[in-house]
Amino acid sequence: MDVLLLPGDGIGPEITAVTRNVLEALDRSFSLGLKFTSEDVGFASLEKHGATITPELIERARKADLAILGPVDTAHYPPADQGGINPSAALRINLDLYANVRPSKVFEGLPALARNMDLVIVRENTEGFYADRTMYAGTGEVMPTPDLALAMRKVTRQGSYRVSAFAARLAAKRRGHLTIVHKANVLKLSDGLFLSEAEKAAAEQGGLAVREEHVDAMASLLVRTPDAFDVIVTTNMFGDILSNEAAELAGGLGLSGSLNVGDENAIAQASHGSAPDIAGKNIANPVSLLLSTVLLLDWKGAETGRSDLQQAANRLDKAISEMLKSPDTRTADLAGSLSCRDFGSVLVDRIR
Ligand code: NAD
Repeated sequence: MDVLLLPGDGIGPEITAVTRNVLEALDRSFSLGLKFTSEDVGFASLEKHGATITPELIERARKADLAILGPVDTAHYPPADQGGINPSAALRINLDLYANVRPSKVFEGLPALARNMDLVIVRENTEGFYADRTMYAGTGEVMPTPDLALAMRKVTRQGSYRVSAFAARLAAKRRGHLTIVHKANVLKLSDGLFLSEAEKAAAEQGGLAVREEHVDAMASLLVRTPDAFDVIVTTNMFGDILSNEAAELAGGLGLSGSLNVGDENAIAQASHGSAPDIAGKNIANPVSLLLSTVLLLDWKGAETGRSDLQQAANRLDKAISEMLKSPDTRTADLAGSLSCRDFGSVLVDRIR
């Protein structure tokens, strides 16, 4: 089974190295038959190939059995015509990874703002308000005059339906509760379209308790009653923002896994950014990328009927939860004392 690692920028290489060591340990324990390749993406690719991601790499990712992408420092890339392409967006669009699955849960023994929470945000991943992925040509932002900037948001019937159907299936496998988050009271056409398709997908799934919330109310409700939610489906930017809020409620940004999923492919990707402020210091928390890898192994296991991949995912998930119980086995962002590499070494020992 071919594993493609794309370390990315900032803390990406550090957390990807830990993820590789952990996967190698799981490979030894479960005889998964993993073969690893690492390819440059982000600044390393810009230097070598003149672009932060190349068409060849996108095709390579399409063919990989398991693909893992580190965070990318898009804010510091040059303009697109000088090679600064958002690799994350390019992969999501080209591989049609339309659902971004972002679970957040409270871990036993780990201090968190939320007392009790175990939810999954399913965020539409290929359209919405992100200017670099809403247009066939050009971008979704224009400046008709020096004093006027406009941003366009794309919401399609098909895009809204398929992500909602995905979320409804997930809710049916979990606790059977789906919350549709929107702002259709103001964005009557665009969010109205999203809402009607989400309602349709939820009704077709059948047997779900369905709730609808405006995004601003949802931001409060997540803090007030985080335990009231199971699966939440929403548009791209709302999902991006709410999932950071949920991660923080669970204990921190370094804690939440994220999987980009389509009908054919999936890519694991940490839900946080490249954290340039701590890059190279060996203090980053690798848990988000590791939990993304748990999601990826589980997805691949379900797709291929390989229970060994799901068992490996389960063992990794449990070992991470065990480590988070004690400050002695946490990283600095969680008031622990382990470095990024040491967290990886202890984890490797525990999953043998
Ligand atoms: P960020 O998520 O990189 O960092 C926010 C804060 O959280 C920083 O203080 C950082 O040190 C901390 N943090 C993040 N991940 C951590 C981890 N694993 N362990 C410990 N601390 C962690 O967000 P930002 O500073 O807004 O963005 C930095 C760059 O990342 C920008 O170029 C942005 O565009 C990009 N970005 C990329 C992704 C992605 O690749 N998926 C997502 C968000 C932002």
